[in-house]
Amino acid sequence: PVIIRLENVFKVYGSGEAEVRALNGVNLTIEEGEYCSIMGPSGSGKSTAMNIIGCLDRPSSGHYYLDKLDVAEMKDTELAEIRNKKLGFVFQQFHLLPQLSALENVMLPMIYAGVNGKERRDRAAEALKRVGLEKRLNNKPTQLSGGQQQRVAIARAIVNRPVLLLADEPTGALDSRTTQEVLDIFGELNASGITVVMVTHEPEVARQTQRVVWFRDGDVVHSHLSPSDLGHL
Ligand code: ADP
Ligand code: ADP
Repeated sequence: PVIIRLENVFKVYGSGEAEVRALNGVNLTIEEGEYCSIMGPSGSGKSTAMNIIGCLDRPSSGHYYLDKLDVAEMKDTELAEIRNKKLGFVFQQFHLLPQLSALENVMLPMIYAGVNGKERRDRAAEALKRVGLEKRLNNKPTQLSGGQQQRVAIARAIVNRPVLLLADEPTGALDSRTTQEVLDIFGELNASGITVVMVTHEPEVARQTQRVVWFRDGDVVHSHLSPSDLGHL
């Protein structure tokens, strides 16, 4: 089954002389269970596409179907609910709240989702165990390494059991060893059924996914590169 379908999606910023066409008629289909990376030069539209896929923004024209729902037709409150219930986000900067422990950071999305206190605590602890941080529940972000902080962010992203995990340069701030830890976790999450879509500019990261989508000038120029096609980079 298809989970993401972009149909002739345009995104225009500004107007008149200042108009920028960030997306120029993008067509893209991603099936449930895929593990994709999105690559392409700076300014080619990757982040704009991720913002639309993540329901943070709407197309200027064209259609975006997420799990068969037509996102362009939805109200802001419905989009917020979809983001919270169906999607998980991981960014280059971890965006953890510094005054909260790892456990409390991971509990946050469940407060918005209306999960009760006891279950919040149990599920947050379970998510942190899944990323190998069961001994770090009470540490604050400053007491954790960069790689550990990113793992807390991943636990927070999966705690509401999303169908889709979206990651924008998730290893951009990490060294090669912790990059590998994060990729191992993504691989395990994907194997457990979560669809993973990740923007990266690192070929060695993209090579560990199953499919590479290549953007240029606001459009997808290669939708099904195989990671072995990245060999010459
Ligand atoms: P990438 O993620 O591949 O670097 P982006 O999606 O960030 O590309 O940007 C695509 C184009 O849209 C670029 O020309 C960029 O300058 C422009 N752009 C992105 N966001 C905005 C914005 N909020 N306002 C105006 N232009 C934007
Ligand atoms: P065409 O499909 O028209 O032959 P190319 O395969 O040469 O086009 O790719 C066009 C652009 O897309 C290249 O300039 C490059 O930036 C990028 N690209 C395409 N395939 C790859 C690849 N396997 N690895 C890295 N970059 C690629």
